[in-house]
Amino acid sequence: MPHQIKWLGHAACMIKTQSGKVVLIDPWITGNPACPVKKEELNQADLILVTHDHFDHMGSDIPDLVKATGATIIAQPELCGALQKAGVGSENVINGMGMNIGGTVEAAGLKVIMTQAFHSGTAGEAVGYIIILEDGKTVYHAGDTGIFASMELLGKIYPIDLALLPIGSVFVMDPVQAAFSLTLLKPRVVVPIHYGTFPILVQDGAGFAELAGEKAPEVQVEVLKPGEEIEL
Ligand SMILES: [Zn+2]
Repeated sequence: MPHQIKWLGHAACMIKTQSGKVVLIDPWITGNPACPVKKEELNQADLILVTHDHFDHMGSDIPDLVKATGATIIAQPELCGALQKAGVGSENVINGMGMNIGGTVEAAGLKVIMTQAFHSGTAGEAVGYIIILEDGKTVYHAGDTGIFASMELLGKIYPIDLALLPIGSVFVMDPVQAAFSLTLLKPRVVVPIHYGTFPILVQDGAGFAELAGEKAPEVQVEVLKPGEEIEL
């Protein structure tokens, strides 16, 4: 069975692995105008990865999602502390205290590496994640970030099958930077995210797809609608 990766709108993504493990990344569900599901419909999750504590990533649903699913939170210690104040128990936090950039943790049979990102945050800093699935397939969720040169290193150390990259501009990479980042990351497939949610952001994935085709024609571009998924 293939892995399924569903875009839930904005930066929210759900990975259902071939063995049925579910990973939620930045599950901003309630209040996310692009999200096609309700919090109550997300009743299975093994891991919840949070890139930073801005409302459009951490949202307000995580304590309820943890209660409903028993999921383990993966995030920086400062962000885990904020979630613990909001009612998440330390038994639902990776290592009881979180992790940090450069580290790898094993949980739910998967490997999760926290990567740098260039953005801001209140509780801790902004990060991204590399998730290595049961069969070695590798997914990179960049979080919110501008382009950075060591994307090339990430792609070398962890050959990336699927990159989930923000393209919406203003707060994150724009389509030009995101397309160029493909020459550094060298993923097999890319799905653009973090656009179209607000009027201020880039509104669709067409411009990115065109630029990506010019800059990195070997990369397969999959422009999804919120709620759509791809198989890996
Ligand atoms: Zn954001």
